Amino acid sequence: MSFWKLRYGVELTDREGNRRWPPLFLVTMPVIGKRLRIDTMQVASIFNLVLVTSGALAAIIWFTTKGMTFFDVTLLLITQFLVGLGITLGYHRLFCHKAFLAGRGVSIILGALGAASMQGKIMTWVSVHRKHHHHSDEAGDPHSPKSTREGLIAGLRAFLGGHMGWTVSGRLCNYTDYIRDLRKDEAIVFVDRYYWLWVLMGWLIPGLVTAAWYQSWSGFLSGILGAGALRAFLQMQATWAVNSLAHLWGSRPFVTKDDSCNNALVNAMTLVGEGLHNNHHAFQWSAKFSLHKGEIDPGYLVLRALAHFGLVWDLKIPGQELIEARREAANNAGVAAR
Ligand SMILES: [Zn+2]
Ligand SMILES: [Zn+2]
Repeated sequence: MSFWKLRYGVELTDREGNRRWPPLFLVTMPVIGKRLRIDTMQVASIFNLVLVTSGALAAIIWFTTKGMTFFDVTLLLITQFLVGLGITLGYHRLFCHKAFLAGRGVSIILGALGAASMQGKIMTWVSVHRKHHHHSDEAGDPHSPKSTREGLIAGLRAFLGGHMGWTVSGRLCNYTDYIRDLRKDEAIVFVDRYYWLWVLMGWLIPGLVTAAWYQSWSGFLSGILGAGALRAFLQMQATWAVNSLAHLWGSRPFVTKDDSCNNALVNAMTLVGEGLHNNHHAFQWSAKFSLHKGEIDPGYLVLRALAHFGLVWDLKIPGQELIEARREAANNAGVAAR
């Protein structure tokens, strides 16, 4: 009779040869000898998704029964906006693209706010996103919604895979080659070490604020479920929509090697300017996503205010001439709005 056998450290690279962390467990089952691959990150990600989704469902049942007040909605939107700033200014524009500079205190606050979105630690989020930019919409992109096959079913499968399937299918991990620089950043190491504390605070603080407002325990539950769970769920959908919808539909004022688009609906979902995704792919290093008249980028407005008070500095922004030149190139290439 054979026993459970465990091997650790297999498959240290993905299909493209990128190193990944953590490595997989390989378990040999007793008697039948079948081998199972266990990805601890995948297990954690499934747990995370189940937690947020069941919390959001509980919130829908709770508010359908009890009704949602103006206060509940306002707190949800304020929390989503603040945590959204953590994602767009912290995780994305600062840690991933280094589009501006900030001191340790501001970096930690932005990082902790971003962590409250429950979209993973900074190292993980940034490694996946940098890999996305490197391989946008081609083999190696962790979350492209483009289908390589014809047909509605294939298209739908690719869309769902690029939207949320990738988070639970083993493609969510630390691609270590992409984050060597971040390991030396004390603010990032600090925020990542206490990741679950920020997640907990993202649920607990709205609960306490609502309990204080209503002076009741049911108020506490309203805050946890509304501005905690439902907010995290909506926020995940918004970020995932950037990866899926904003790589399929919208306008393409710039030529990029991928199919990124500016999508007004996605921009509204994120609340912070992340839907201007073609602009972002064209100028990844830019602290400003709104590059044309009428485009709304609340994240950049907040960044400007922070810069005004000297809390952030060296904001990288493309000059008008460069923007015009890129747009001209797009016109010559015949790129049209879709
Ligand atoms: Zn993209
Ligand atoms: Zn980016």
